Amino acid sequence: MPSSRAASSAPRQRRRAEPPPPLGSLTQADAVTASCSSCGAGRVTRLAMTLTDGTPAVFTSCTRCEHRGWEADGAVLSIDDVVDRTRRP
Ligand SMILES: [Zn+2]
Repeated sequence: MPSSRAASSAPRQRRRAEPPPPLGSLTQADAVTASCSSCGAGRVTRLAMTLTDGTPAVFTSCTRCEHRGWEADGAVLSIDDVVDRTRRP
């Protein structure tokens, strides 16, 4: 795992619509090769995490159009799905 990367100073910690990720469940915070499902840009940030109900999901955030999406089990989740799964009954 490369650890000599310069710390990113870009202030893009925006999290308004998403539910806060459960602490300790972030397993990956690296940008990988993927395409935005909205604009097709090749630079998206993917975060693998586990939702409150135990569903392993991937949060995708486009650096170009700011499209945000969720995937679980290879399927796209709607924000409503995610909110549902992160909310306790
Ligand atoms: Zn995009």
